[in-house]
Amino acid sequence: MKFCSLCGSTVEQRIPEGDNRLRFVCVHCTTVHYQNPRVVAGCVPVWGEQVLLCRRAIEPRRGYWTLPAGFMENGETLAQAAARETDEEACARVSDLHLYTLFDLPHISQVYVFFRARLVDLDFCAGEESLEVRLFHEQEIPWNELAFPTVGRTLECYFADRREQQFPVRNEGLAALRPRA
Ligand code: ZN
Repeated sequence: MKFCSLCGSTVEQRIPEGDNRLRFVCVHCTTVHYQNPRVVAGCVPVWGEQVLLCRRAIEPRRGYWTLPAGFMENGETLAQAAARETDEEACARVSDLHLYTLFDLPHISQVYVFFRARLVDLDFCAGEESLEVRLFHEQEIPWNELAFPTVGRTLECYFADRREQQFPVRNEGLAALRPRA
């Protein structure tokens, strides 16, 4: 950050009084510009035995498969964000959302959250940010062409949990996200 988004003056990095971290502070209006982690919310849209994936039309990881997910917006709940992203990327409606996986990614200051969800109908198609959207059976999942480790790990958990018919909420960190052997 170089300039204050309120008054346009330059910002400097310093520790504000009563704080203990370096912040961007406007030299003119003294506004402190806090930078906090961003939340990515997504769904595991399920239709019977199959799961809906989207092939990304945008960078990063263009051409790779992902669960529909994206940055949460102000004024919405986590579940609303996950459902909205599913609608935007796959033009698909979901219901019965259940909190499922939560990944802390402090190295990139992001938190990823996925919900299990029921696909309402088969009336889906590629949204603006997708090249292709389709349903996959477990044995068809393109494990080596998944966009992000959080997506692979969530799918891994989902298929394993489905065999047990129990879906505990999982809060995992980086250790769970090592590339598959
Ligand atoms: Zn300012």
